[in-house]
Amino acid sequence: MKPTQLMIRYGELSTKGKNINFFIDRLGRNVKNALEGSYPNVEISWFRDRMYVELNDEPSDEVVERLQDIFGIQTISPVLQVEKTLEAAKEGAIEIVRPFVEEAKSFKINTKRADHDFEYDTMELNRSLGSAVATTFPNFDVKMKDPDLTVRTEVRADGIYLSVETIQAAGGLPVGTAGKGMLMLSGGIDSPVAGYLSMKRGIDVEAVHFASPPYTSPKALQKAKDLTAKLARYSGQVPFIEVPFTEIQEQIKKNIPEGYIMTVTRRMMLRLTDLIREQRGGLAIMNGESLGQVASQTLESMLAINEVTATPILRPLVAMDKTEIVEIAQKIDTYELSILPFEDCCTIFTPPRPKTKPNLEKVIEYEKALDVEGLIEQAMAGLKIENIGPDSIQNQVDEELFEGLL
Ligand code: ATP
Ligand code: MG
Repeated sequence: MKPTQLMIRYGELSTKGKNINFFIDRLGRNVKNALEGSYPNVEISWFRDRMYVELNDEPSDEVVERLQDIFGIQTISPVLQVEKTLEAAKEGAIEIVRPFVEEAKSFKINTKRADHDFEYDTMELNRSLGSAVATTFPNFDVKMKDPDLTVRTEVRADGIYLSVETIQAAGGLPVGTAGKGMLMLSGGIDSPVAGYLSMKRGIDVEAVHFASPPYTSPKALQKAKDLTAKLARYSGQVPFIEVPFTEIQEQIKKNIPEGYIMTVTRRMMLRLTDLIREQRGGLAIMNGESLGQVASQTLESMLAINEVTATPILRPLVAMDKTEIVEIAQKIDTYELSILPFEDCCTIFTPPRPKTKPNLEKVIEYEKALDVEGLIEQAMAGLKIENIGPDSIQNQVDEELFEGLL
């Protein structure tokens, strides 16, 4: 007998007071979006304290795996619904523990009775189911305190529900409940992780990527799109906004003293991202900066770059070490893509030794050599926007590996 439904417990959102319905509705829609396409038979219903996914023969393991990526879900329990008879409950209990008896040594039955008209009370049910399980699996002992396995049994009006597993999910807040934010997404290790963490706190992320063809290749662009697809697993879809950046970089290279190229480049990126944010109704900008990691990520640099806007800039990685960031990148499966060796628009134009302590007055002075407004207008006129879903990955990792073997 396979699980008939999945029971979902919410995490932190259960503390959101009056807003709770807004959070749960959003979570419900996110769950629906994530499952509908691949598992058309599932039926989803949500209530104040729980959400249920009726499987209707869709594969439980696969659906659980999808649900584990959805922020706002704390735990998932596969549930077996049986007829409301003692015999059916016994049989159900035996079947539901069967996959675990190799590893688990002890168990207990924990019954709740929502339907008080049922002819057996909780004590009787605990005892009958317990002895049915213990007789079927002689090495599996009843243990009331700290058993390896707890068989939760609920008697409700429409049947008896049994479950043994509590599977951890992603936690966090449902994507979308915090509003929209623009992620500055390069092809590196850090920015996808920053995107993931932003989604974890409920931000509806849109990716902004600066490309400088022909200095940067179509493969580098595709890599950024593939990273976006990895992030789309957590929200269903992520808009990808490609910004043409070649002209701006050429102008900067021509007109700005070497030590300040990086600072001015970042200021142009930020101005553009902020305009895109405004056009698309975003409330914040996120990037992958981590304090002290490279020249552009000192406090002096941040001050000089940040000066172009008052929009909140969220830096989810600011206090993380590289090893911690890499760990998350591996967990969310972006690491292998990120380390593919495609040229980045910044590294190509940035001289080896940018100023780590740029002076804001000088920056402003140097920038006068550029037609900032004209360049921005031109770049904004050339934006390319596409929606990227989780399945649109072009598997460059395999391709690269293959080429390496030849
Ligand atoms: P990452 O691994 O995210 O590239 P990094 O440590 O390499 O970060 P930088 O290259 O200095 O650091 O970039 C700092 C941040 O600036 C990035 O995390 C990203 O948010 C943004 N950024 C850099 N290059 C681009 C780009 N081509 N398009 C969009 N955003 C970018
Ligand atoms: Mg980078």
